Amino acid sequence: MNNYLKIVQKSGYKLTKPRTKIIKFLESQSMPLTAKSIYRSLGYKIDLSSIYRSLNIFKKLNIVFEEEINREAYYYISKKHHHHIICRKCGYIECIPCTSNFSHVKNFKDISHKLALTGICSKCANE
Ligand SMILES: [Zn+2]
Ligand SMILES: [Zn+2]
Repeated sequence: MNNYLKIVQKSGYKLTKPRTKIIKFLESQSMPLTAKSIYRSLGYKIDLSSIYRSLNIFKKLNIVFEEEINREAYYYISKKHHHHIICRKCGYIECIPCTSNFSHVKNFKDISHKLALTGICSKCANE
């Protein structure tokens, strides 16, 4: 069993077949996806509300992270929170490690942050 599935199993949440499917699918994808595109890619077999419920559980377990891209919620599976940069011309997405550190903020706990990064990819820049 892969790590992500183990994490869910150990957490006390039920590792149901749909949850296993969603995790395996997210692992096969290198780009963040909307819940709807996960729904579509899994052949509409798992209903959208259980996809959202599962994603929320995975988020709590810190194996899935949410990112807002073009005002829509996208989800990706990862061991670590990171960022994505999107090409404004073609929509190509690349992962960027997070270098932000907020440990100096003493008056807050459980700090989260978002970054909206866009640019022009090298392929588009050469056109
Ligand atoms: Zn591009
Ligand atoms: Zn970050």
